Amino acid sequence: SSGSEENDVVVIGGGPGGYVAAIKAAQLGLKTTCVEKRGALGGTCLNVGCIPSKALLHSSHMYHEATHSFASHGVKFSSVELDLPAMMAQKDKAVSNLTRGIEGLFKKNKVNYVKGYGKFVSPSEVSVDTTDGGNTVVKGKNIIIATGSDIKSLPGITIDEERIVSSTGALALKEVPKKLVVIGAGYIGLEMGSVWGRLGSEITVVEFAGDIVPTMDGEVRKQFQRALEKQGMKFMLKTKVVGVDSSGSGVKLTLEPSQGGSQTTLEADVVLVSAGRTPFTAGLNLDKIGVETDKIGRILVDDRFATNVSGVYAIGDVIPGPMLAHKAEEDGVACVEFIAGKVGHVDYDKVPGVVYTHPEVAYVGKTEEQVKELGVSYRVGKFPLLANSRAKAIDDAEGIVKILAEKETDKILGVHIMAPNAGELIHEAAIALQYDAASEDIARVCHAHPTMSEAVKEAAMATYDKPIHI
Ligand code: FAD
Repeated sequence: SSGSEENDVVVIGGGPGGYVAAIKAAQLGLKTTCVEKRGALGGTCLNVGCIPSKALLHSSHMYHEATHSFASHGVKFSSVELDLPAMMAQKDKAVSNLTRGIEGLFKKNKVNYVKGYGKFVSPSEVSVDTTDGGNTVVKGKNIIIATGSDIKSLPGITIDEERIVSSTGALALKEVPKKLVVIGAGYIGLEMGSVWGRLGSEITVVEFAGDIVPTMDGEVRKQFQRALEKQGMKFMLKTKVVGVDSSGSGVKLTLEPSQGGSQTTLEADVVLVSAGRTPFTAGLNLDKIGVETDKIGRILVDDRFATNVSGVYAIGDVIPGPMLAHKAEEDGVACVEFIAGKVGHVDYDKVPGVVYTHPEVAYVGKTEEQVKELGVSYRVGKFPLLANSRAKAIDDAEGIVKILAEKETDKILGVHIMAPNAGELIHEAAIALQYDAASEDIARVCHAHPTMSEAVKEAAMATYDKPIHI
């Protein structure tokens, strides 16, 4: 392992923030060690987040297509069977291949990897209880905290990962629950609800707020909720869970309107608690070295990702900002660039968000509500997927592209897409936003036909002028 030789950079945490920072640091010629307690690299995202959820979303979509759509495309089976253990095994294989891939990248880039739980003994020393039972002290001129986030429960609800599960348990259920209640209508709850709904569960989503996915544009959100409802998902908005009883054979939830009122009950076989995540800094000894955190435990940093303690930095889910893997990665690169004496930059206003349901919803920049609040005059251009030839050709045409641009200058302010592949389509909008492009700039780019990307072009045409195909 690392010995007592001093590193230029020590990264605590091997998630998308930490492992990317470690690789980038090594690429910039800095001697780098990464400490990870999990026994595998990739963090929440790769082990119990982005990757296993996308594996199950894809597999469950295939199953759902086979049972619901194949026949109309002229593909007939005598029967379709679900082999849940095989589906889980494919997910596990994807995860283990990718974690080993990062270990390979560490070797290739000469990042020293220490497996164990790190805690500060001073601002330049991390004591690591190694997974093999030993202890080693890793020294670094610069230390980056990339310890990420953890699941969060709600008052009075104990997660047992069997009947009352977090997203982690929901990624590994051993059978398809007849009734699954999802607490929290954020993207994680809707994605996991979609997985099990496609495999046959009855899904009810209970949400305290009046809306699902609060960061989404309101108009797109409405269409999205309708799409999910058509798939059989039920929503109980403005509703809070005040009690959960799992002493019987199933789980009994007691519900109440968010603002108070008469109680109702709801039965479930499995309850998924997906009501947000919390920054993880347990056992790090932050108070010992005096690193400042905010009220909800996030580490406070300046625009160079430096904490109040000299030489100590923080990135990813453990600091304020969108709790997303690609944001953590951007943080990691920029932080290391600053450490290496270069200039890094991450613009949190241009971080795309994607909900990987079917259809997907992706967005970048401002929602119409936010634009209104800014008080700028704006134009809206919309184009429905129903008028897109590719979407019609493959009979998967539920969705819309919506572009918001400043009225006077036509500068794009926000782009919102609901489409089967919205998570891929959004990046031309992300580039446009980054380059301060106008909607006309997108509209005048030749887009290949027939592609769903043409819906983005048409929405851009609709923003400053008129679309052709509607
Ligand atoms: P993490 O990934 O949490 O990594 C932190 C690592 O630090 C962990 O591996 C932990 O073991 C380690 N660690 C903590 N403390 C110590 C210590 N003291 N010593 C040593 N190691 C330590 N984001 C997306 O962008 N797209 C998605 O599709 C997406 N899907 C998600 C689905 C689910 C179900 C969940 C739960 C999350 C999802 N996310 C998604 C969010 C994404 O996982 C996080 O934003 C991302 O993992 C944050 O990266 P990070 O490096 O900051 O922290």
